[in-house]
Amino acid sequence: CGIVGYIGFRDAYPIVIKGLHRLEYRGYDSAGVALLDETSNLNIYKKAGKVADLEGFIEGRDHSGTIGMGHTRWATHGAPNDRNSHPHQSGDEKLAIIHNGIIENYGPLKEELISRGHVFKSDTDTEVLIHLIEDIRQEAEIDLQKAVREALKQVIGAYAIVIMSKEDPEMLIAARKGSPMVIGVGKNEYFIASDATPIVEYTKNVIYLDDNEIAYLKADELVIRSIDNEVKTPYVQQLEIKL
Ligand code: GLU
Repeated sequence: CGIVGYIGFRDAYPIVIKGLHRLEYRGYDSAGVALLDETSNLNIYKKAGKVADLEGFIEGRDHSGTIGMGHTRWATHGAPNDRNSHPHQSGDEKLAIIHNGIIENYGPLKEELISRGHVFKSDTDTEVLIHLIEDIRQEAEIDLQKAVREALKQVIGAYAIVIMSKEDPEMLIAARKGSPMVIGVGKNEYFIASDATPIVEYTKNVIYLDDNEIAYLKADELVIRSIDNEVKTPYVQQLEIKL
C-alpha cells in the first residue's frame, strides 16, 4: 500500500517513520521498517496495527543506519498479522523487500521454490519474489542487480518494490510496474515513496519511475535502467509547492 525509503547521510529511521505517518491517509492494516548500517547490520521491525504501535515497539531498540525503508500494508495475500507484514526476507536473511501490488503468478513460483528447498515464513506473494531473487542469484552466481532483473522478468502482476541487501550495504534498489514510485533527489541523499507526500518537505526535485524501470540508488549516485538493462536518462521534475 505505502512505501518509503531513504539513502544518504542522515539517520534513516526518523525520515522513514515520518513518511509512513504521511502515508497513513491511504489506509493500511500493518506497518514495518528495515534499517541497514555500514557494518551490514540489518534490523527489521514489523507489526499488524498502527504506525504509532510500531513506533512504540521500536523505541529503545536499535534503529541506527543511514539506509532505511518502510511499508504500510493493505493485505491482498495472507491475513493481516505480524508475520505477513513487510519487509520480507530471503531464506538466508541477506535480502529484504517491501512491495506494493500483487504478484499474480506467486503460486507456481512458490511451488517451484519449495521444491528447490526454500522455506517460507509468510503467506504473502511478496515473500515469493524475494526468494526468487535469492534463488536466481545463488544458482547463476550473478550480482544482485542482474538477479533482480531476471526475477522481475518472471513475475506477472503489478508492483512497486524496494530491496535492501546486507551484501551491498550502500545501495537500495527500487523498481515498478503498474504501481507508482517517486524518487526525491537531494544532495548526497535520495528519498523513495509511493507518492510524493513523504518527500515534499525534503526536496522538490523528483523523478517518477516508469514501468519496467529499475533504480539503483547510492547516497551520491542514481542509475536508472530498464528491465532489459538499457540505461535511462532520469527526468527530474519540480514538485509544485503547496502553501
Ligand atoms: N500483495 C502484498 C501483500 O499482500 C502487498 C499488499 C500491499 O500493496 O500493501 O502483502
